[in-house]
Amino acid sequence: MGDHRREFPEQEQKVTSHHGDRRTFLQQAASVGLAVGTGDWCRALAAPIPSTKIRGSVVSGKKPLAGVRVSDGLRVVHTDASGDFRIRVGPDSGPFLFVTTPSGHWTDSFYVATSAAARQRPVFRLKPRAADPSHRLVYMTDVHLSEGNSSESVKRMKRTIDEINGLDPLPDACWVGGDISLDHREGPRYVELVSRLKMPVRHSVGNHEFQLKTGDPLGRFRQLFGPTYYSWDIGGLHCITLDGCHLDTTGGKPGRVIGQFGRRELQWLAADLAAVPRGMTTVVAVHIPLASNYPPRRGTTAEKSPQWIITNAGQAIDQLKAHGVKLVLQGHLHENQRMMQSGIEFVESVSVCGTWWAAKSGEREDATSGEPRGYRLVDWSGERLIHHYRGSAESRVDAAGEIVGRPGKLPANKAADLLVNIFDGTDTTRVRAQIDSRPPVTLKPSSRGRHFGDLQAAHHWSWTIPSSDLSTGKHQATIRIEEPGRPRQEFTHRFTS
Ligand SMILES: [Zn+2]
Repeated sequence: MGDHRREFPEQEQKVTSHHGDRRTFLQQAASVGLAVGTGDWCRALAAPIPSTKIRGSVVSGKKPLAGVRVSDGLRVVHTDASGDFRIRVGPDSGPFLFVTTPSGHWTDSFYVATSAAARQRPVFRLKPRAADPSHRLVYMTDVHLSEGNSSESVKRMKRTIDEINGLDPLPDACWVGGDISLDHREGPRYVELVSRLKMPVRHSVGNHEFQLKTGDPLGRFRQLFGPTYYSWDIGGLHCITLDGCHLDTTGGKPGRVIGQFGRRELQWLAADLAAVPRGMTTVVAVHIPLASNYPPRRGTTAEKSPQWIITNAGQAIDQLKAHGVKLVLQGHLHENQRMMQSGIEFVESVSVCGTWWAAKSGEREDATSGEPRGYRLVDWSGERLIHHYRGSAESRVDAAGEIVGRPGKLPANKAADLLVNIFDGTDTTRVRAQIDSRPPVTLKPSSRGRHFGDLQAAHHWSWTIPSSDLSTGKHQATIRIEEPGRPRQEFTHRFTS
């Protein structure tokens, strides 16, 4: 893939002007919505939605856009040849009326309060974006701004954002996977940070966006970013942001946030998928995972620990499978873990905050399975879609893995029992290791790895080196990694015995 800026000078200009719009839009939202806490937005979202038919239109530049999908969070309709749409709404509608921004166009103002749209004809104004055959998204999740080592969290997030702005090719959009820390009132500071990104941003809601003790637990998220589930198209890819966070009130008062889809969200998902043009590749992002082996690695089950996984994910997974969805990006658990289920790859993607910003100044910040904090890049061209993990900024490690503990010295002439962490490894990853020029051995996955409390770390392999391979002196370990469909990788580690 080439350099967008060099090959498409027009795009740079458009992205920059759009960047200005987004900064203003987000900062206005932050100052009005969060500082005041009430206002037009709150009133509009709290207002009842009358049973009526909304008429509106979608334009890009000055041109009406035909065939654009518009939804009330339940039903999905299309604009006609004049760019006009009609949608029936009512008390069963979601709080927002939103447009699925089509490929080649963009707006941050992709939603309005449904009750407001029922009173005044909505017009969604999009801007054209330059076309490019190759595309990239950056998926960045679990920001947890100000948690842990608070001042480090802001400094390190700035470095990550500068790094993303310097990626080549520059991502078309940044998809934030939730847990911004709106429950800690970090909205304005987060908005200031994310406004620095050169590319547009879409947000997922996380459990740390809920203000549990208020009458409007999602008020801050909705005021800043709009609907908690919606879809958007970019570069021929259909992207679905799911919510799946549910405030558990079984004790009679707001308790904790658990993973559970509401009925309306599942009905909307079916309507959204049905409206996707045949053959269009679809990617889903959701904060709390639909599928993960995290609960058993924590010695529990999904039923016992619904805060870690969506308990009624089956219906959504069936819909995604029926529609040929290949990739689901997930957050919440602060580690990389990839698994295939129902022909779909479910990826828990590393947290950008590692282990809630636990590291002190100068230390590397690692996620719960020991991989450095970072994000995931999704690249696609036509139907070919690949993704990979990338450690970030001060915590970046260029190698695809490391020997746990990074030992500089191993006892001479004694067998050594090591663990190898392949940062984004999965059960089809083949790991081979050798000392100096001795014959390589194939490693077995290990359940011994622990990096975070009692959590059995993902993607660790066990390596027992016989005493005969550890004669007194300098040695080099070479680890080779192969996985079907991915480039081979290798890294080395030097030590003495
Ligand atoms: Zn979370």
